[in-house]
Amino acid sequence: MRRISVFGATGSIGESTFDLLMRQGGPEAYHTVALTGGRNVARLAAMARALRAEVAVTAYDDCLPALRAALAGSGIAVAAGEAALIEAADRPADWIMSAIVGAAGLAPGFHALRHGTTLALANKESLVTAGPLLMAEAAKHGARILPVDSEHSAVFQALVGEDIAEVERIIITASGGAFRDWPMERLARASVAEASSHPNWDMGQRITIDSASMFNKALEVIETREYFGIAPEKIEVLVHPESLVHALVGFADGALMAHLGAPDMRHAIGYALNWPRRDPLPVARLDLAAIGALSFRAPDPARYPALRLAYEVMALGGTAGAAFNAAKEAALDGFIAGEIGFLQMAAVVEAVLAEMSSRQGLGNGALSLDNVMQTDAEARALARVVMGQQRTVA
Ligand code: NDP
Ligand code: MG
Repeated sequence: MRRISVFGATGSIGESTFDLLMRQGGPEAYHTVALTGGRNVARLAAMARALRAEVAVTAYDDCLPALRAALAGSGIAVAAGEAALIEAADRPADWIMSAIVGAAGLAPGFHALRHGTTLALANKESLVTAGPLLMAEAAKHGARILPVDSEHSAVFQALVGEDIAEVERIIITASGGAFRDWPMERLARASVAEASSHPNWDMGQRITIDSASMFNKALEVIETREYFGIAPEKIEVLVHPESLVHALVGFADGALMAHLGAPDMRHAIGYALNWPRRDPLPVARLDLAAIGALSFRAPDPARYPALRLAYEVMALGGTAGAAFNAAKEAALDGFIAGEIGFLQMAAVVEAVLAEMSSRQGLGNGALSLDNVMQTDAEARALARVVMGQQRTVA
């Protein structure tokens, strides 16, 4: 029986993964090694019972008593904390879903690769902060990383049987997020609730807000570079409000291979789960005649400074990705907490990058998990200082 684990099982990607696992036979078809979550202990316990997991892990120590109580008598082991997440990743499995949100997802995924497992990677932050390390670790242990982000799954699928050396460009699409049609003046006053509703995709709150600011697409540009090893100047972003074309790959002969599908993450998750087969998936089939038209436009650089920052980060290299992601996460925390406005997020990230690259040269030095973590901590601390200064000025 195939052994599987799901990290971030209680999140949006985790729920979709669970849904597919249950539809594909659940505990009769899969041996579930570990399921992990955060504060949603009741849901984690229910999933662990349904899949008869070996162990359920919450990221938070204070959630352990509730998890233990919820799983009493089930025979399922329980654990809590960062070290327990790593231990869960060290339990051999054939397929592991990496769907924790944020930089917290890096270490468990990194550990899982040591067992030559297949890592289905939704946690894009892993590639943004430590792409070269992750890819090298996978190569070293004969492990495979399969992309789960919809755009990257689309590119991966368009590249089946193709030679990456013949790729001229990769175009990833962006819906434009919640505010794509808002006048710029209104953006400064956009509320958390307004930023948390996506026109096409149903996702976790953080990635939904990152879609409105295009920080999500900025992370995905870097993710494209790291995963496919393609030069930054060959990566393009195209606004496509319908979210039906997920990505396009342009080849040396001028051909463009596009991937289309309903905006449902179960496609990309299912592709990674069943790969290299294509098994039936419960996603809507597109009726293109009913849809009629698809539209595309170039992203407005003034509206989406995050995209420019992504290219600056790629030019810097080294730990710049870790600083960028951590500053973004801290700025997002600040926005959600009502401490800074929507447009200030990009300003905070830009200030952190400028300060850190002048201070220590973010592009320098060998990349290691330790200096990624250290850069992450420094960027978060600096972002909080910058946000404090911005509040004082305002
Ligand atoms: P959610 O916020 O919905 O879920 C996050 C999961 O991680 C939950 O299980 C949560 O637990 C857990 N978690 C939160 N904080 C921590 C922590 N510090 N340590 C360990 N676990 C933690 O996120 P999404 O499912 O939306 O996104 C997950 C990842 O997938 C992200 O990297 C995102 O960018 C990527 N992704 C998501 C897409 C989507 O459609 N949602 C599309 C493409 C990529 P709990 O809820 O129990 O507290
Ligand atoms: Mg995506």
